[in-house]
Amino acid sequence: MKNINRIKEDENYTAVDLGNLDELMEYSLIHKVNKQKIEGKVFLKEATNSTGTEISFNSLAAKTEQPYFHIHYKNEETYIILKGSGFFQVDGEYFKIKEGSVIRVAPAGIRGIRNDSDETMIYMVVQSKENSLEEYTTDDGERVTFNPKW
Ligand code: ZN
Repeated sequence: MKNINRIKEDENYTAVDLGNLDELMEYSLIHKVNKQKIEGKVFLKEATNSTGTEISFNSLAAKTEQPYFHIHYKNEETYIILKGSGFFQVDGEYFKIKEGSVIRVAPAGIRGIRNDSDETMIYMVVQSKENSLEEYTTDDGERVTFNPKW
């Protein structure tokens, strides 16, 4: 089993390294509810001290699917397909996905993902509380004067 490598942290940041994304299958975890071992998945909230999002990196071996469909109670999820291709299904409707596909699913959506290709699929999931975002893009931020020391 692989562990996340912490690069550096301080009061205002935490930097970690997951390693080569082609080696995501080396991560595994035990699902808190059904106690099933899930391979190829790593969550980042605790590793990065995140307070507003849970991000996971995931890999699905060729010709396999996530072994369960699921919903959430409060959080919406955005799936970002980084490599590979397959199908995504929500509430019984399914569609083709591939590298570059982005799918947002409301908490109640019954979701599943399948890799029907001959290569490993790699995707990221961003989980955040539905309707929690107030300001976004450039509305939440401002430029500051700063002398960088690269
Ligand atoms: Zn989920």
